[in-house]
Amino acid sequence: MARYTDSTCRLCRREGAKLFLKGDRCYSEKCAVGRRSYAPGQHGQARKKVSEYGLQLREKQKARRIYGILERQFRNYFVKAERMRGVTGENLLALLERRLDNVVYRLGFADSRAEARTLVRHGHFLVNGRKVNIPSYLVRQGDVIAVRAKSKESPRFKELAAAAAHRTVPAWLSADAAALEGHVLALPTREQIEAPVQEHLIVELYSR
Ligand code: SF4
Repeated sequence: MARYTDSTCRLCRREGAKLFLKGDRCYSEKCAVGRRSYAPGQHGQARKKVSEYGLQLREKQKARRIYGILERQFRNYFVKAERMRGVTGENLLALLERRLDNVVYRLGFADSRAEARTLVRHGHFLVNGRKVNIPSYLVRQGDVIAVRAKSKESPRFKELAAAAAHRTVPAWLSADAAALEGHVLALPTREQIEAPVQEHLIVELYSR
């Protein structure tokens, strides 16, 4: 499976915003956005006039990078969102938010979406009692997401359980940190999705 392997902090610097891709480091003084608040590369500090297309492109790249998705898959989400009833941009964000790796992260059972993806890939999670190792699996209302009994004994999951007890979970989910179990109470609404993305710009970009 293709994936991005270059510097992660570079992505935040390119978008000029903290995308919180690295867990605890993002909340520390080591965050690269705080230390070098300009775009990476030789011309990163040059002033540039951004076109309308540029704005739309940056917004799409930001959303892609927040959720850790490559271009083709992101486009597929857009096509799916367009076919759904309702507002395309909101449908798109709701689809991204419903990914299992994102839900695991939102429940506090991983430090970042990247870690959540690895843990899901390695088969540590059950959905409704069945092992699911597909990070892009879309959760549904009523789903129960739990860490496998054997995995709960690992030192990493013990650490995560302790940290999860202090995390705030979005209203469409509920989490039992001690049991490392979460419930999908409803599908996410736009107000409940924290991603700092102007989704209408993404729709405009793909509608060109
Ligand atoms: Fe982005 Fe986190 Fe790196 Fe800061 S530490 S630049 S928020 S990934």
